[in-house]
Amino acid sequence: MEIMTEELNSKTKNILKRGMMDNVMEQFNRAANHIHLNPNIRKILSITNNELVIHFPVKMDNGDVEIFRGYRVQHNNALGPYKGGLRYHPTVDIDAARALAMWMTWKTSLAGLPYGGGKGGIQLDPSKYSQGELERITRRFTFALADNIGPEHDIPAPDLNTNSQTMAWIADTYMSTRPPAERSANQHVVTGKPIESGGLEGRDRATGFGVYLNIKFWLNSKNETLQGKRFIVQGFGNVGYWAAYFLEQEGAKLVAVQDVFGSLYNPEGIQVEKLYNYSTSNKGNIAGFPEASIIDKHDFFGVDCDICIPAALGNQITKESAPNIKARLVAEGANGPTDVEGEKILLAKGITIIPDILCNSGGVIASYFEWLQNRSGDMWPIDEVMDKLEKKLKNSFDKVYEYAKNEGIDMRTAAYCIAITRIEKAYVQRGIFP
Ligand code: NAD
Repeated sequence: MEIMTEELNSKTKNILKRGMMDNVMEQFNRAANHIHLNPNIRKILSITNNELVIHFPVKMDNGDVEIFRGYRVQHNNALGPYKGGLRYHPTVDIDAARALAMWMTWKTSLAGLPYGGGKGGIQLDPSKYSQGELERITRRFTFALADNIGPEHDIPAPDLNTNSQTMAWIADTYMSTRPPAERSANQHVVTGKPIESGGLEGRDRATGFGVYLNIKFWLNSKNETLQGKRFIVQGFGNVGYWAAYFLEQEGAKLVAVQDVFGSLYNPEGIQVEKLYNYSTSNKGNIAGFPEASIIDKHDFFGVDCDICIPAALGNQITKESAPNIKARLVAEGANGPTDVEGEKILLAKGITIIPDILCNSGGVIASYFEWLQNRSGDMWPIDEVMDKLEKKLKNSFDKVYEYAKNEGIDMRTAAYCIAITRIEKAYVQRGIFP
């Protein structure tokens, strides 16, 4: 039985990872064809620059040693240092890391940042480890990554199941392994740190804020507001919670929410702050929240609503779930939540998709602000951060919206065309060494 479960898990993982790489390559090729991308640059961008697979030992609380597998994939750095999150999840593998690293290259380019794209993580289920074990795992992984990351080379950030605490451990480990006089100059080796450890006011909410703003900008383009709009959110973590928080503030109503433990529904609206307090006192678990009914997880995407926000894992909107979606707008908080078949179905139904590389770019833009502050020793108040963030996000939204309208294409392809064109220009200007 044990072996069968293992086989099943590995089959599920294979489906997930094949889909992720397939998705990102199909999206890339569609945009590359549209802009007639220089064939030599297409070759470069179709492949990752560097891929690290690291096995490292960690002592567990019971004295046993466990071997972990960590990844860091650096896709492209034509525009600047590699930038992208670290994820702790059983589905982390080389193909997922490659796909996610590529998405980062497009995301940073679209946002106009001086960064390339990277991604990585550790293949593990963090709920199975104590806080002390997670700290040792993180520190040992950082030590093993050594000079393959660095504040002007490759700058990780939080992602699924990692947070500001994880970043504080990474920064501390990295800085502790530098010569004493260089330690403080290396604080920006990661972003998404706690405020007291060099973090940015507002970084915690930046991704969800960006999701909310993108939805608002889209509605405004139709002369509509958020007032009374019903939305559903998959994933009630950093991205899902903050997106729901800001949407509710402007009069929208959360009617269904799903996390890894369960799915909740209340057509009258679920109060976001109440649910957050319930879930934080319940180890991040929303199931059992008394002011909503539990629904089957397969019914979640079919809930009647205006806006659907996938903010958990990749490959959630597929040929199975897409036909059920009733929303007019899908705002991608997660990376790669809609696969290629799911996307075709949504577009055929006339549903607009605000693509991940635009919709969730608030996080990496805020990370850039944190990096700038660490470099210059500056500290911006939260109002200034949110203001700067909003300006950048509006600029990105307008570019993508106008491009899509002018070219008669969907917003994802438009976002890719803009992102890839910027990188293409950099290659053409610089040429290929030697
Ligand atoms: P998180 O760990 O804070 O929260 C993840 C949430 O997803 C949790 O509520 C969890 O229960 C839920 N979840 C996990 N597996 C699920 C499943 N199978 N079905 C339903 N729900 C499930 O993670 P996060 O930081 O909010 O990241 C969520 C997504 O957003 C990821 O795809 C990540 O790559 C993307 N993203 C995050 C950031 C960021 O700044 N944190 C930035 C850009 C993109």
